Amino acid sequence: MPANFDSAVFKSQFPLFSQPENRDLVYLDNAATTQKPQVVIDAVCRFYTTVNANAHRSSHRLARSATAMLERTRQKAAQFLGAASADEIVFTRGTTEALNLLASSLGQLLRPGDEVVLSSAEHHANLVPWQMAAERFDLKLVYIPQRNGVPAFERIGECLTERTRVVSITAASNVLGFVVDFTAVQQTLHNRPVHLVVDAAQLAAHCPIDVAALGCDFLVCSAHKFYGPSGVGLLYGRRSHLEMLPPWQGGGEMIEDVTLNASHYALAPHRFEAGTSSLASIAGLEACLDFWQQLDRGALQVYERDLIRYLHRCLEAQPRLRVLSQPENNLGIAAFTPASESDLAAADLAHWLDERDIAVRIGHLCAQPLARALQTEALVRVSVAAYNSRGDIDRLVEAISAMPAAAASEWLRGSATQVAGGAATDLFLLDDFSGLHCAAILGRQNHWQQRYKELLKWGDYIHPKPDLRQPNWLVRGCESPAWLAHRVVDNRHQFAVDSDSRIVRGLSVLLLSMINDRDTEILRVLDVEAEFATLGLDKYLSPSRSNGFRALLRRARYFVDRSQGISHQGL
Ligand code: PMP
Repeated sequence: MPANFDSAVFKSQFPLFSQPENRDLVYLDNAATTQKPQVVIDAVCRFYTTVNANAHRSSHRLARSATAMLERTRQKAAQFLGAASADEIVFTRGTTEALNLLASSLGQLLRPGDEVVLSSAEHHANLVPWQMAAERFDLKLVYIPQRNGVPAFERIGECLTERTRVVSITAASNVLGFVVDFTAVQQTLHNRPVHLVVDAAQLAAHCPIDVAALGCDFLVCSAHKFYGPSGVGLLYGRRSHLEMLPPWQGGGEMIEDVTLNASHYALAPHRFEAGTSSLASIAGLEACLDFWQQLDRGALQVYERDLIRYLHRCLEAQPRLRVLSQPENNLGIAAFTPASESDLAAADLAHWLDERDIAVRIGHLCAQPLARALQTEALVRVSVAAYNSRGDIDRLVEAISAMPAAAASEWLRGSATQVAGGAATDLFLLDDFSGLHCAAILGRQNHWQQRYKELLKWGDYIHPKPDLRQPNWLVRGCESPAWLAHRVVDNRHQFAVDSDSRIVRGLSVLLLSMINDRDTEILRVLDVEAEFATLGLDKYLSPSRSNGFRALLRRARYFVDRSQGISHQGL
């Protein structure tokens, strides 16, 4: 363990962790966003309390201060990224906006049939804007060849043609954490008329960035992912490239001169900053860049590398998991799914961890093509930052091992009966929990753990219903997808439900035990929300889960009303 980086001291600078409600929090969702040090929070607050004025407009004292802060931060950002000059830095709202700007502006410079090379490991932010540009400017999208579902970046040469004009790739995967080696990419692109765009959203918090060493023409990142505030991102553009790029958005402060029929645009970078920037966030970013200046980045990297190896060792020792990421050349992400023969469902595991105040992320992680290539859309992602410790990882792994084996084996038996019982074809009659008095059972349990186990157990009462998984039955607002169908038989409202998540299924059983097979009059007077509240589940279930219960309830109500000719908006 390196002695010269003290993670505990580092963590003490982040006030979120010392709040009473967060004392037990293990925050392992840093790839989504990092926590903020006090100096950043103070700078945002100070901007509003002492400086607040618009930049680059008025000439009074406060406006001069705001302008000076903006341009100072631009200079510091240039240093942070290794840019030659502050003029190469554009402030955006974040990586997504920067990539939209590039796809739109670069797209205007291309000819129909020109090619844009992407990888299948891109975040949607580096896919969708190019798909939109391809449609608008008649461009062709080409993908780097894959090996075992992962792009083989060193084979980029195989997909370059005379029409290749843009290569836009990630510097590090937000799913598997691997860092791309740009040496081969650079060599292959050398002397070609190709713009190299690098998505460094994940890289910035973990590795020093040097745009010159990367050999890129454009690079984008978001402050909120490297301990800075949300609402501000950086777009680096090589000066010669930025200058020839048409503006993206039109408006105030991006012009030299405006007549009724035409405008002359300002020079870069201001040409790309139409309207008022997120000034308080930029003030926070300045403090964040100063914060980075004081850190020993080498020591921090060694510390994080040790942590990511430890994390992988611990996860790989878990027989119920299939770990998809590699510990080497990894900036801080472990991704796994339940092993195929295992008894866990990703969504349930994440819920289980959340109940223990361990924050991880599940799903396709805004990288659906990669998740599909890895043959799963239900990944669990654990992403570390320098304030995490081996103790955090121990808590994570202990919680995973503690996911109850007894309940798990019950679940396996449950699946077996579901398959055996699959002969019934009426989706509405498949599940029978008519004898189950959910509210009474939960009411008897004194401890939350017992109630949680009960909910998980009920999840097994719901048979899989592939036929139900249609877009028209999909319920929005649940953390894991759920489907709810409805019909009326003899004035009784019947519902059929399905979800991959056991806890969502358990909550559905609770809901259906209250509303299924009831007539309209009873449903009108039934106060399901009040009953749910008396069970005290809200206190323990995370908002997304209890919101899932409410989303199902809202959908059920919508169906009931619709069957009575009452219309709803927005459902
Ligand atoms: N690219 C990558 C690799 C990312 O991880 C993310 C955020 N998860 C983005 C782009 C989008 O960043 P933002 O939401 O800050 O615009």
